[in-house]
Amino acid sequence: MERVETCNSIWLLDPALMQFCRMPKGADPTYAVSARWQPYFRWEEEPDTGAFRVALDDARTRWLSSRRHVDPCPRCDHEATRLVIMPPPPCAVVGDLLE
Ligand SMILES: [Zn+2]
Repeated sequence: MERVETCNSIWLLDPALMQFCRMPKGADPTYAVSARWQPYFRWEEEPDTGAFRVALDDARTRWLSSRRHVDPCPRCDHEATRLVIMPPPPCAVVGDLLE
């Protein structure tokens, strides 16, 4: 189980089952037990910037993207997780669609 902290939420990832869930920061950790887990099909991350995204469908057309929270954090209070709709990449190079 991997835990990723962003500015407004905590992501829990289960790479074995390819499922993730997001919960509001500060939520009771037991919340994860009843939280809705979603399947994901790919996880990409830019180690340099902390930007990451998960593919929500097998065709990789729908992604959820966010960034890791750092301390001190210039993005807190004004950047939320956003849903990005993109055409399927014909021959995507890892990372070339970020930002
Ligand atoms: Zn932050």
